[in-house]
Amino acid sequence: MTSYTDTEDDILSWDELTTDDELPSPSSFESGLLADAYLKFADENPTTYHVVKYFQNLLEDNGFIFLDEQQPLTKKQADQLNRGGLFYTIRSDLTILPFVIGADWKPENGVGAVGSHIDALAMKLKPTSELKDVDGYNMLGVASYSGALNNLRLDRDLGIGGGVLVEQDGKIVRKLVKSPWPVAKIPSLAPHFGQNPLYNPETQMVPIIGYNMEESSLSESHPLYGRHLGNLVNYIAQLAQVNVDDLLELELELYDTQAATLGGLNKEFIFAPRLDDRLCSWTAVQALIDFSKTVDLSTYQGLNMVLLVDNEEIGSATRTGVKGKFFNATIDKILSVKSPQSLSLLVYANSVILSADVTHLLNPNFKSAYLDKHYPVPNKGMVVKLDPNGHFASDLVGYNLLRQITANNDLKIQRFHIRNDARSGSTIGPAMATDTGARVIDIGLPIMSMHSVRAMCGSQELDIGVGFFNAFFNDWRREYNKFKGL
Ligand code: ZN
Ligand code: ZN
Repeated sequence: MTSYTDTEDDILSWDELTTDDELPSPSSFESGLLADAYLKFADENPTTYHVVKYFQNLLEDNGFIFLDEQQPLTKKQADQLNRGGLFYTIRSDLTILPFVIGADWKPENGVGAVGSHIDALAMKLKPTSELKDVDGYNMLGVASYSGALNNLRLDRDLGIGGGVLVEQDGKIVRKLVKSPWPVAKIPSLAPHFGQNPLYNPETQMVPIIGYNMEESSLSESHPLYGRHLGNLVNYIAQLAQVNVDDLLELELELYDTQAATLGGLNKEFIFAPRLDDRLCSWTAVQALIDFSKTVDLSTYQGLNMVLLVDNEEIGSATRTGVKGKFFNATIDKILSVKSPQSLSLLVYANSVILSADVTHLLNPNFKSAYLDKHYPVPNKGMVVKLDPNGHFASDLVGYNLLRQITANNDLKIQRFHIRNDARSGSTIGPAMATDTGARVIDIGLPIMSMHSVRAMCGSQELDIGVGFFNAFFNDWRREYNKFKGL
């Protein structure tokens, strides 16, 4: 979720914890398994590039077919689309869109879509990150992505990772890297020097990446010469397993390396980095895969999608953000096979899009900051976000549609609404509504400490998310027919 302000050990694995019979067991072993899979995903995929790659592999493993956005559909792909199938497409390794389409889908059947964002607050490497040493300390120039450089990022163990561009056989390709150990730290100043309430993000929050490193310089003809420390470039080349001379560009960021974990006396919680928003995106894709295994595509009349986008945290106005219209482009591509004329507006008029982004779980120390009867609690149910001022796209018809779908499936639904004396954040919902005219409903799983380096949520939110999205994919069209014209 976007905020309107700029400032916004050893961990035992689930297996290790559950092998001891003396330990109290969580209420549902099933939820433990799902939570465990999420924790592993969260730790192994720290950057948006890694998240897209993870979903790509998962979708491939489950029979989804890749469609290249930059190519027209082949005859074989068009035939597959007509027969009904599982597909996905990717733009710039930063946004990914899987969908399930039935053989009998037609434009007036619309789309049931879940849109979520996969970017998270981070410290991005500056185009020139090389800085002068400070009395032997080697420093790294980073830029604050969505206000990440604030006091919450102090004293954390930071890894480095992301994409690198490499020249290979006359082509430029992207490889993904991540450091196997923390390489940087932004140290606080001990309180003995006096109070330091707010650090300057340019001058007082520069990460340290080494001390008295022996210089390992690049040749003057190297494209990264004079921009990044030779030691760093050589280290990254090793991680990417490429010759340093083939490395053209670094698209890297620093991220928190502390492992995500279950927490609470009965493991009621998850403590993790980057829950905003790897949580809704992960559960939405799992649900779409689950749904794809239960549907008979040869007679199915529907089209269900998940859109995972970059750059929500900075307002979405990029080609890989939701305003880059990847969703609209994919609908047009499907229509090129399924309809003799471009009927995208007819598709949107009959669609329901869930804008899925985490929302604010009640913080018991600040209950008065929340609006009575409009705040969520953990491990209960998906939350509909309502707001009369357009920060969220939901309306009460959309709320009632989801209320019916959840009731049909023995699920619960909660509501979030901000107080009149506070300012709401926003999501991709309003942009999707204005781009398409479709009914968009803002929803989200609840987390506490949003935009902190480490947030928390209920450990059953994974089950709740997967169950909710699965119910939506199965029931939205039938239930939405009851609201015709509204
Ligand atoms: Zn978010
Ligand atoms: Zn956010």
